[in-house]
Amino acid sequence: MQKGQTAVVTGSTSGIGLAIARALAEQGANIVINGFGAPDAIEAARRDIEAEFAVKVRYSAADMTKPAEIAAMIKTAESTFGSVDILVNNAGVQHVAPIEEFPIETWDTILAINLSAAFHTTRAAIPGMKAREWGRIINTASAHSLVASPFKAAYVTAKHGLAGFTKTAALELATFGVTVNCISPGYVWTPLVERQIPDTMAARHLTREQVINDVLLAAQPTQQFVTVEQVAALAVYLCSDAASQITGANLSIDGGWTAA
Ligand code: NAD
Repeated sequence: MQKGQTAVVTGSTSGIGLAIARALAEQGANIVINGFGAPDAIEAARRDIEAEFAVKVRYSAADMTKPAEIAAMIKTAESTFGSVDILVNNAGVQHVAPIEEFPIETWDTILAINLSAAFHTTRAAIPGMKAREWGRIINTASAHSLVASPFKAAYVTAKHGLAGFTKTAALELATFGVTVNCISPGYVWTPLVERQIPDTMAARHLTREQVINDVLLAAQPTQQFVTVEQVAALAVYLCSDAASQITGANLSIDGGWTAA
């Protein structure tokens, strides 16, 4: 990647997405951040990135369940900065419940945000990337794109789908200088993980400590959480010229979880 390129990072008001946005800004990319949260906190994060890395950062409030808002986000990014060179599909939500109790509307929302949004952003960003013969599309999948856990039916389904979408897009774009890959983290300590602890306690009849040690960390042979900075560093690598022959890959960063 080169200074002055533009990255759109969905779901970047928090957690992994915010870390990726900051890491790409550190490399000199202008950034479109996206996601929900308190307006003051989002504006503070936006200003911090601009000040710290001397790049331009815009905020898009596009809701990843709404295809028209997604298309408008990409269009506005292109008209504001001239191009979308790097697209990181990272927005995601989780819900933990047995299948027979899984709320139907929650199933639809998780598939929309965690899977279909990546189709809508990619569809909108591809023409510009093809025309410039350079692009990087990175999808934040999950260890759950490779293996399942009980009580996460919608999430596991969406992430497996995202891995398949990644391969298809990689094949379609292989001769255009555009790579498309998944990053598949294990457990990363972010609000998304913290929020699922109460439901996991209920679904599995466990205490908070048991969920952290016997469910979350037990999945990872290293018995440590992955950090957001480690995931962001992998995203930066995928944007480098050294990674130009990595496409259609699903790169695990999961403390050995999916080796077991
Ligand atoms: P997070 O809750 O900190 O961040 C999620 C982001 O998505 C937030 O910015 C939120 O505002 C945004 N978002 C949610 N709904 C949205 C919508 N409708 N439209 C736009 N933005 C929306 O969670 P995180 O852990 O940083 O998760 C980021 C990604 O990493 C997700 O795709 C998640 O599935 C994936 N992931 C996380 C872990 C983990 O252990 N934390 C592991 C593997 C994969």
